[in-house]
Amino acid sequence: MIDEKFDAIVVGAGMAGNAAAYTMAKRGLKVLQLERGEYSGSKNVQGAILYADMMEKIIPDFREDAPLERHLIEQRFWMMTDNSHTGLQYRSDDFNEESPNRYTIIRAQFDKWFSSKVREAGALVVCETTVTELVQDAYGKVIGVKTDRGGGQIHADVVVLAEGVTGLLGTRAGLRKIPKPTEVALAVKEMHFLPQEVIEQRFNLKGNEGVVIEAVGTISKGMTGMGFIYSNRECISVGLGCLVSDFQSSGVSPYQLLEKFKSHPSVAPLLEGSEVKEYAAHLIPEGGYKAIPQLYGDGWVVVGDAAQLNNAIHREGSNLAMTSGRIAAETIFQVKSRKDPMTAQNLSLYKKMLDDSFIMKDLKKYKDMPKLLHIQSQNFFLTYPQLVNKAMENYLRVDGTPKKEKQKLTMKSFVSARSWAGLFGDAFRLARAWR
Ligand SMILES: Cc1cc2nc3c(=O)[nH]c(=O)nc-3n(C[C@H](O)[C@H](O)[C@H](O)COP(=O)(O)OP(=O)(O)OC[C@H]3O[C@@H](n4cnc5c(N)ncnc54)[C@H](O)[C@@H]3O)c2cc1C
Repeated sequence: MIDEKFDAIVVGAGMAGNAAAYTMAKRGLKVLQLERGEYSGSKNVQGAILYADMMEKIIPDFREDAPLERHLIEQRFWMMTDNSHTGLQYRSDDFNEESPNRYTIIRAQFDKWFSSKVREAGALVVCETTVTELVQDAYGKVIGVKTDRGGGQIHADVVVLAEGVTGLLGTRAGLRKIPKPTEVALAVKEMHFLPQEVIEQRFNLKGNEGVVIEAVGTISKGMTGMGFIYSNRECISVGLGCLVSDFQSSGVSPYQLLEKFKSHPSVAPLLEGSEVKEYAAHLIPEGGYKAIPQLYGDGWVVVGDAAQLNNAIHREGSNLAMTSGRIAAETIFQVKSRKDPMTAQNLSLYKKMLDDSFIMKDLKKYKDMPKLLHIQSQNFFLTYPQLVNKAMENYLRVDGTPKKEKQKLTMKSFVSARSWAGLFGDAFRLARAWR
């Protein structure tokens, strides 16, 4: 049993928890971090892109020793049918800058490194310890935690809930509801190992340059979801995720979808001859702004995925997790410095600072998008990608058909799939949700 009282207990050692624990420890607070995994990162799954700007705000010189894979110089976006894809591609040598903006990482390695920084900053990090219960006083204020190691209660002025998307601790304590199946995606991912030079040749890369491919279309069978391919140094991450509610209603398994994605004629040559060494599945919060729960209360704050802080439209999660962890830590430091109690009123500064940050501004901007994509998933994730590919084939195939006739055929295929009213309606709804 740990007898001493802490300034803060952080539950979870993912991106959000590590950011919070590091920031508080660095400012001299007495921090205990508890992680159920064997080590930080052992339970964590990500594509994964690391957004450097948010990491720099926590550890400015992280590039010096963090385990980074490749810096990204190219992004491809594919609209797929079963045997074709139409792509949008952006590649720039400007991304070969001195301090690159985005990197691929392997979370198990990165989190382990991040955790070593948390320890160096002075926090007490205890792994293989699951927090089983929040301890509340007679007035409902959170005053500590209980763990599966027994030994009674551990007390702190404030508990930072960084327990990830499932967040059973907070939901069991009634601090927030379990996310609905329409608010979470289930993603599966494999790591395909290949020699470094083979990856570089297949993706047209040199040195530490990297590429990301994101894909929608028939691969998700009309469900709200997408596939992804990330180039690491000596392996390729390939995965796919769709809303849990869509998996429930379709009866399709994520594993079946991933197999189909991998065997697609545009994907298979990239993976050919690789050795699969890892398979993982994880949930992603995708409910957006409207799914964000209460973020603070007497003696507690919730950060990262547990708080549904995830921008599914831009496929950003770890940066919101890190930033919310850092902001929560700065709030706690400020309250502590003023020698004020960790009441809901004082901790409301966390929400105010989040509102002023890119996190809430971005999530608010796209507040109607998750519902729109879900309701219109057949159109956005199946019909339109098919139509775009049909139009491209029609445009590129030279067979003596006059061009005017080809244009008519293309328009006809769009209008027969979606009426004019349907097409304009979708464009209008999309523009409104995007504005
Ligand atoms: C397939 C996939 C691809 C993704 N790709 C990207 C990407 O490319 N870029 C990006 O920015 N984001 C991506 N994300 C999202 C990103 O991974 C998350 O947003 C991020 O990991 C959230 O960090 P977190 O610290 O809130 O939660 P997590 O990283 O899930 O960490 C939570 C931690 O809490 C621990 N924990 C839970 N309960 C307890 C308990 N009771 N006691 C003790 N410990 C506990 C867990 O073991 C875990 O270590 C992806 C997610 C998935 C699933």
